[in-house]
Amino acid sequence: MRTPVIAGNWKMYKTARQAAETIRSLADLVKGVQGVEVVICPPFTALAAAVEAAKGSPVAIGAQDCYWEKEGAFTGQVAVPMIADLGCSHCIVGHSERRQFFGETDATVDKKIEAVLANGLNCIACVGETLAEREAGQTFAVLERQVRNGLSRHLTSARLVIAYEPVWAIGTGKTATPVQAQEAHAFIRQVVAEAASPAAAQAVRILYGGSVKPDNIATLMAQPDVDGGLVGGASLDAASFAKIVRFRG
Ligand code: PEP
Repeated sequence: MRTPVIAGNWKMYKTARQAAETIRSLADLVKGVQGVEVVICPPFTALAAAVEAAKGSPVAIGAQDCYWEKEGAFTGQVAVPMIADLGCSHCIVGHSERRQFFGETDATVDKKIEAVLANGLNCIACVGETLAEREAGQTFAVLERQVRNGLSRHLTSARLVIAYEPVWAIGTGKTATPVQAQEAHAFIRQVVAEAASPAAAQAVRILYGGSVKPDNIATLMAQPDVDGGLVGGASLDAASFAKIVRFRG
């Protein structure tokens, strides 16, 4: 049995004070929820306040990105030991916005995952095709390339979580249908089986991301290979995110 993960990606929203307020409300709303791992990933500047606000609650805190070197002359970068030092337990790697706007590649994704896992954190590694790639019939080829080139050295780690995020569904209000999500997740699991082992494929959690909302999470979660959600917009509001966390009703 794979324990579901519901993770919120706050992107470049919320000051430290706003983050703390939202997390305190969320902690209240998800109190007593069993059998779901809950993660919130605020901006770097709000991580310390978020960790403090989440203390004693089931809400884990993660960063949205990291750099792979542990320290050095890398202006503007944040190292994984620094993220761990704040009390964070998770880090997102390879989000499509990082790939699209900040030059993230499968090779840098691989190095970042290595750093995250080596420092004892959980890694949420993102893959997903663009609209042009889907329309050109390249979805499976893109997913296979991203998993094999970026993730394959790390697939046996219990601390690696994969997020399938079709780029055309992120922030657009267009959700993949449950059938499209299931098809992509099953494909990714098959690639994991081939690249690592059938046991690793059965164990790895694969989250769906792309316009997840309180009213579509249950049908997505009903798919056998969907093990949770990576939620952008709908994670910014505590009440809406709590409803997603409580997808079982
Ligand atoms: C995301 O940021 O990973 C995401 C899926 O965003 P949204 O839920 O807003 O589409």
